[in-house]
Amino acid sequence: MFIDIHTHTIRLYDERQRAICRWTDPEELLSMWDELGIARGVVLPLVHHEIGEILQTNENVLDIYNQYPDRIIPFCNFDVRYWYNSSETDFSKALEHYKSLGCKGVGEYVSNVPWDDPRSLNLLGHIEAAELPVLFHVASADRGMYGLVDELGLPKLEHVLKVFPKLQFIGHSMAFWSAISGDANEANWMGYPTGPVTEGGALPRLMRQYDNLWADISAGSGNNGITRDFDFGCKFMEEFQDRVLFGTDICQCPQKVEQVETMNRALAEGKISQEAYEKITHLNAEKLLGV
Ligand SMILES: [Zn+2]
Repeated sequence: MFIDIHTHTIRLYDERQRAICRWTDPEELLSMWDELGIARGVVLPLVHHEIGEILQTNENVLDIYNQYPDRIIPFCNFDVRYWYNSSETDFSKALEHYKSLGCKGVGEYVSNVPWDDPRSLNLLGHIEAAELPVLFHVASADRGMYGLVDELGLPKLEHVLKVFPKLQFIGHSMAFWSAISGDANEANWMGYPTGPVTEGGALPRLMRQYDNLWADISAGSGNNGITRDFDFGCKFMEEFQDRVLFGTDICQCPQKVEQVETMNRALAEGKISQEAYEKITHLNAEKLLGV
């Protein structure tokens, strides 16, 4: 069984919205899941201006969840600039509200500010207090991209992992997965580096050191991180089998999704254990999200 930790779909308001954006509609997402053998999954609200042509409310995701409660696991989402762009905004009421309506986490967190911006630290503290996990995307700059700004080697991510030890961080994006290898450098860490993984990557080190860090294998970045050096990728999944999560990052229809095949191949070739396979494909998500 597969549970998808990472998708995007919008119930568009009308044709005026469709004219400027091409996100999957909920029925397209469900039919793509059916074809891939995915039972259910998380929908991440698109609330940040950085990420696309139109914004999506938490209510839009909850409406989709209410229509398909057996298949959709809703997250809620916030921007650090929510409510007066302050580092003292109290997110607790909103977090408890959306939690009471069924939201199981926060994300995709992509505010394009440094991890340690006081507004980001404020939001992360509130998410930790609400006991929800946060799924994030990493950027290398605060212009021309989306995601939390970090540096090569992910020192700012390490800082927040330390400051918020009870907050479960679910990592995703090119900058996150390129750190699987010690050869990540200024030229390739925001891309899809290929070839053998070398020792010394920041990602394995952080996974070993911080048990509140999880790895989401969705998107081209996650699949590339695992498959660029398949033996290493499978060893990574085996070692961190309690904190790796299956995901797709379905955004559009059609879209090439390789993660099901990657997981099945890893199992069929005996490169990961049955136990690790079950955890990564669905048991970890069930445990982390309480679903
Ligand atoms: Zn995404």
